[in-house]
Amino acid sequence: MWKRMSESLNPYEIAQRQIEAAAEKLNLNQGIVEILKRPLRVLTVSFPVKMDDGSIQVFEGFRSQHNDAIGPAKGGIRFHPSVTMDEVKALSMWMSVKCGVVGLPYGGAKGGVICDPRKLSEGELERVSRGFMEAISQIVGPDKDIPAPDVYTNPKIMGWMMDTFSRLNHKFSPGVITGKPLILGGSKGRNESTARGCVFTIVEAMKEIGKPMQGATVAIQGFGNVGRISARLLHERGCKIVAVSDSNGAVYDSNGLDVAKLEQRKDARLPLDGDGASKIGQNELLELEVDILLPAALENAITSENAGRIKASIIAEAANGPLTPDADEIVNEKGILVIPDILANSGGVTVSYFEWVQNLMNYYWSEEEVNGKLADVMIRSFHEVNQLAKQHNTNLRTAAYMISLQRIAEAMKARGWV
Ligand code: GLU
Repeated sequence: MWKRMSESLNPYEIAQRQIEAAAEKLNLNQGIVEILKRPLRVLTVSFPVKMDDGSIQVFEGFRSQHNDAIGPAKGGIRFHPSVTMDEVKALSMWMSVKCGVVGLPYGGAKGGVICDPRKLSEGELERVSRGFMEAISQIVGPDKDIPAPDVYTNPKIMGWMMDTFSRLNHKFSPGVITGKPLILGGSKGRNESTARGCVFTIVEAMKEIGKPMQGATVAIQGFGNVGRISARLLHERGCKIVAVSDSNGAVYDSNGLDVAKLEQRKDARLPLDGDGASKIGQNELLELEVDILLPAALENAITSENAGRIKASIIAEAANGPLTPDADEIVNEKGILVIPDILANSGGVTVSYFEWVQNLMNYYWSEEEVNGKLADVMIRSFHEVNQLAKQHNTNLRTAAYMISLQRIAEAMKARGWV
């Protein structure tokens, strides 16, 4: 009965729809909405890479800069076979909104390369990383556009990219990219920051619905950087991680999974199932009766097709765009509290900002300092959004969009764009 035949799974159309909905609530003028509905700039690049067997493979990638009214554009680079230009455009729009929610002095950007890093050797991965950075080097820079890690990219890749950019520009330029190895100007706490930030918002949301963290049941879709570190941090706070999945499968244990063991299996590139945990379907995981559900993989995990069957009390969108707007409506009607991606996963870009600030001043903070500042930003932002949602009798996503678009619109007005 919930199936809406016309549901779009195109992230760009989804992002446009979300912007229109919030703009309407804010009564933003049409000029502002038209600017916000599309990126200011999208660069498409093709670059040749010498493969280990001597052949040449041409890779295609994109860098989308959605808006830079408040500051330089900011956002990660993903390596994934399903990357499309529309996906990268949408992700850049969500970055603008995300930076606005937590009040960072950045606009939004995103990059993507169509490739399957799991099938590349270390050398090939390095050449793809350097090739892409070289191809986009004209439009990025510490005061223009600052990339970072995203799906299937990591500090090592950021290090190679920083090196390529620094060589091309004949100067050490750590501020061009964040999420770097510590030795190259990375920030303490950056690697855990997306998950840590997400957990701060979950703690506040659980208080809101009056449930204790101790003993709360959790299901996590995706066991990459955000999924696995969230599992670890939630476990430390007394939650019971009953199910996790990755792209190969899902495991379940009603008594709680051994997170440390799962991490060891992941590091050893072994399937998650083993050590006695029972195997379940990846879709089944999303529909478990748990207190907290974390979609921490890709877009469109929950659509109008399965939204009606979600039984979690809280959905924390650790990934970007895991719920379609139709799914969002359905779970809202069911009374599920959704912590939207632009708030739930904004800890990553927040500590990226701290990293960039440290690079610019060449002075580095302790991990306690970084984590303390992250806690301040996340807890303050959660309550700003929650309060506005109550004031306007709306959900957290709409309230977050309202706070953010208001800021971006104000900057565009102050610059005389509209
Ligand atoms: N890729 C992350 C995100 O989607 C981090 C972006 C950044 O740190 O710039 O928020």
